[in-house]
Amino acid sequence: MSESGSRTGRWRLVVVGGGSAGVIQVRQGDVPPQEILVVAERVGTGMAFLGRTILQSYADELILSRRSGELQSALAVGELRPNADEYDTYVRESLLRSGASVTLAKVMDIQRDEDGFVLSLRTPGGVRRQVYADAVVLATGSTPRRPPEDWQAAGAISYDTVYRELTQGNTSRWAGLSVVIAGAGNSAMQTAGLMAPAARDVTILANRYVGMYPSESDDRFAWRAPSQLTYELVAKSSRECGRRPWRVPCVRHLVHDSLDMDGDTVRWRYRREVNLGMLGSHSLPDRCRHARGTVVSGGEGDEVWEETRGHDSVVVWATGSNPVYPPGELLASLSREPDGSLSRDEYGRTGVPGLFVTGACAGQRSVNDTVPARTRTPLVAVPPKAAPEFPVVQVAV
Ligand SMILES: Cc1cc2nc3c(=O)[nH]c(=O)nc-3n(C[C@H](O)[C@H](O)[C@H](O)COP(=O)(O)OP(=O)(O)OC[C@H]3O[C@@H](n4cnc5c(N)ncnc54)[C@H](O)[C@@H]3O)c2cc1C
Repeated sequence: MSESGSRTGRWRLVVVGGGSAGVIQVRQGDVPPQEILVVAERVGTGMAFLGRTILQSYADELILSRRSGELQSALAVGELRPNADEYDTYVRESLLRSGASVTLAKVMDIQRDEDGFVLSLRTPGGVRRQVYADAVVLATGSTPRRPPEDWQAAGAISYDTVYRELTQGNTSRWAGLSVVIAGAGNSAMQTAGLMAPAARDVTILANRYVGMYPSESDDRFAWRAPSQLTYELVAKSSRECGRRPWRVPCVRHLVHDSLDMDGDTVRWRYRREVNLGMLGSHSLPDRCRHARGTVVSGGEGDEVWEETRGHDSVVVWATGSNPVYPPGELLASLSREPDGSLSRDEYGRTGVPGLFVTGACAGQRSVNDTVPARTRTPLVAVPPKAAPEFPVVQVAV
């Protein structure tokens, strides 16, 4: 962790972030690693909170160089996919062996100076310092969405809390309680499977039916293998919930219309007609003692049901992620996409010449979707893809 690669104290490139996107920028990008300083609060994947959970992607979908088999050889014989701990080690070692310099620090601000950028850092020991760069790539990732404030005040948690507490062996937040999970994707499905063994019952409230990949959906971001357990639990528990001698955890999946909170009471509504698929039909009222709905409107065949849970419940948010960026006026002033990520073009260029984005903070949803920013892209007028108001970028070469 040195600055030997900087010329006169100014780096050719500073990459902010030590996750998979930061490593891909270093190892596959257009600046030699020896001329790069990586500044990261933590080195390793942002998925580390998943602990020993097996990742959805296969080893070759997660490699950080162009060398097929690089990660596979780090796995135990017979494993197709790494767990998050194994992947974390691979990301960390991959960066530390890349030849780039690495500093553990949080970037507190980025400003332009006459020649490029000045970044203000705070180290883990609280020391503040500045580094200078010709160009900056933000690879700062994303963070799970938090429940709205009033839900948080009422005890709702985000799904990453479930993973973090499970790695400590702690299930006290949901043991014996009714769990209500808001979310439709893999995080919702997989969190349900993790909470089910200790919970009284689990209800996933989705805004749409996503489907299993590749059997029910061609979208590779649809439900992946670890979600299959929850899929099976929904069907199996509809037959066996509460029956002895097996105690199959009770899990339901409903496409819902509304979810509200009133004091201690959580209330949701759903329609029969949008829940007639595999999971919905196994989750409708009267399938087991937990599924007690009241018809609030509609007639036979198109009933709208309402269910409530009281203080003996916990609500979990599993509704996706928000991009993360360093604080400061420069970044706050830039235009954004509808998902909150910074507007950029296909080369990762933002509205500020010399400032780039890559990885989850650039809307790239998986490791094998991650492409390094092209920091040496020649000066061309690239029209904006998504945001019409996006300014044409002048690139420092
Ligand atoms: C539950 C879950 C499961 C997933 N499973 C898969 C999967 O199986 N396969 C797949 O391809 N993708 C998966 N993803 C998506 C995956 O997380 C991303 O593809 C990938 O981790 C994004 O990498 P990244 O480097 O952009 O961000 P991250 O890995 O989050 O890295 C961000 C880095 O930026 C640093 N940082 C942030 N702010 C600052 C700052 N101000 N100063 C300094 N450093 C900062 C952080 O410390 C960290 O080092 C999953 C995501 C989730 C949430």
